[in-house]
Amino acid sequence: DTHDTTDVAIIGAGPSGAAAAAWLARRGLHVRVIERSRFPRFSIGESLLPQCMVHLEACGLLEAARAGDFQPKNGAAFTWRGQDTAIDFRDKFSPGPGTTWQVERADFDQRLIEGARQAGAEVEFDTSVEAFVADADHPSLTLVGPSGERRSLRSRFVLDASGYGRVLARLTGLARPSTLESRCALFTHIEDHIVCPRHDREKILIGLHPDHPGIWYWLIPFRNGRASVGVVGDRATLEATGIDDSERLWHFIHAEPRLAELLANAETTRDVGRLEGYSADVQQLHGPGFALLGNAGEFLDPVFSSGVTIALDSALRAAPLVERQLAGEKIDWETQFEQPLRRGVATFREFVDAWYDGRLPRIIFNAQQTPRIRAMISSVLAGYAWDENNPFVAASRRRLNSLAEACSDEASSIISEVC
Ligand code: FAD
Repeated sequence: DTHDTTDVAIIGAGPSGAAAAAWLARRGLHVRVIERSRFPRFSIGESLLPQCMVHLEACGLLEAARAGDFQPKNGAAFTWRGQDTAIDFRDKFSPGPGTTWQVERADFDQRLIEGARQAGAEVEFDTSVEAFVADADHPSLTLVGPSGERRSLRSRFVLDASGYGRVLARLTGLARPSTLESRCALFTHIEDHIVCPRHDREKILIGLHPDHPGIWYWLIPFRNGRASVGVVGDRATLEATGIDDSERLWHFIHAEPRLAELLANAETTRDVGRLEGYSADVQQLHGPGFALLGNAGEFLDPVFSSGVTIALDSALRAAPLVERQLAGEKIDWETQFEQPLRRGVATFREFVDAWYDGRLPRIIFNAQQTPRIRAMISSVLAGYAWDENNPFVAASRRRLNSLAEACSDEASSIISEVC
């Protein structure tokens, strides 16, 4: 039965699964995507980075996404204790697009997987992957369909794009805890009713709590007066007030002056959601007959909206290697996939660490930097975290350290010299 075998089986129809499916199907391979839920489905992760546009184009899904008419995005604005600053992605060091979108993921993800289907991939919804047998040439999956029936799917390669499902990381024992602290996010969607003329809907707004270091907020405007809003912090602090997550979220929003003012008339349009302990890692991003994409491998932290960018990057790195391997070439997944992918992830990781230990806020709120340094930082925040020509990629920690030091120094004139 031809339906029980395929060239490439992909677990999960989120952005990484859709991108890999579209790329491989366009190359004439038989691709089956197995998705546990029924689309459209809600997902968090709504603010994209310009680097995503390069990847969407590479797998032929840019037009499908563009048809969604999503809210344009050109940067990130930051607010802390009444100080406002912004990074514009169009002023950046690396080549490539400087704008992207803020997307409601239910719609965005559905458009991508529909684009993959149109490219020739078969997609089965309401079907979950429950078991896996690794094999270098013929890995196989056990699928459980909507009425509980089990069947097996033999393939020549498996890509795990199951996101927080972390299917193969769990089934193969590759899962390992992240070295990042466990944090918690509370979030919802709103009709924002923002009237402030200073508010720039083309930027994500990141707020820092005036008194609690490490507690921060996102406000991601969508089209049509809607927005996503959330707060991130350690669970104990978030739970110290309020009887439920909705009260807690609004309590924290009201504690940040800019957000409190902007969202004074906001109306919630969905139940407040909670995600915690989302940072995760694996010992290895590949094994015999499989590779892990996006969140099914490693997830860092939401602060710089790098999740979908890394997910797409991993898909566009893996897909051509799968094609070559199935054509008979020997692929070294460690040096050709894992190491180059992890280099960009490591750049984001340095920025995440610098965010939580205070170096990056100090840099971002210091207005004295030269445009060139600002452009290098803008590049990483725009997702160009793999561009080794950027000193803030090639030597992230050293550059962030010296810049943060210079920013805390009264004599900010030295800032231009250290970089
Ligand atoms: P997903 O989009 O999670 O897709 C995985 C799919 O696999 C799902 O549809 C799921 O149903 C399916 N699946 C799971 N298990 C199974 C199974 N057993 N069988 C079959 N299918 C299965 N990223 C950004 O880029 N920008 C942001 O602003 C942003 N904000 C975030 C805020 C928070 C609080 C958090 C926690 C994350 C945020 N992220 C953000 C990260 C973003 O959500 C993810 O990185 C991104 O969705 C990963 O895409 P993916 O394709 O790897 O997986």
